[in-house]
Amino acid sequence: MPFRPLDELDDLEDIELPKPLSLRRVCSTKACRGTARPGGRHCLACHARAVRRYRDRHAQELITRRRDATALRDEATRAADSGRAKLAMALRRGTMRRGLCHICGTADVMGIIEDPQRWRDAVWACREHRQAELERRRDAAAQRAADAKQAAWYDERTQALAAIELLPPAERA
Ligand SMILES: [Zn+2]
Ligand SMILES: [Zn+2]
Repeated sequence: MPFRPLDELDDLEDIELPKPLSLRRVCSTKACRGTARPGGRHCLACHARAVRRYRDRHAQELITRRRDATALRDEATRAADSGRAKLAMALRRGTMRRGLCHICGTADVMGIIEDPQRWRDAVWACREHRQAELERRRDAAAQRAADAKQAAWYDERTQALAAIELLPPAERA
């Protein structure tokens, strides 16, 4: 390649050199030179501002949504919460006193409420035995569900057999 005259090389200085490879991405907010959050388009400060602005603009909507979510909490959970709250209140007021762990007799206990309506019948258990009791109840509930399923299957089968019995003999097969 022949050498180029010097004045021609000077013109080349206007050519933009490739930028050095950089993993840093700049915030998309106009005039902000902050570093974009990993996986995000904006820097931390701009993101925080955007979230705040969104919350302000949608405050009412967010309140309503939260209220709806609370309302949707299923009935059983609400009843359980209410039972627990009543028990806690009774203990605070002194109208009821904690018992001893029903297994080991320790005094450091928590109440286990079987039926929220009958929170006064709470069973007292220490941390260790509370865990054991809850596990026992979970197993018992699973067993009840399995039994109910089996009973339903048995009923269905009995009814199917009874229906077959009613058919004229020629159609039984
Ligand atoms: Zn920014
Ligand atoms: Zn115990």
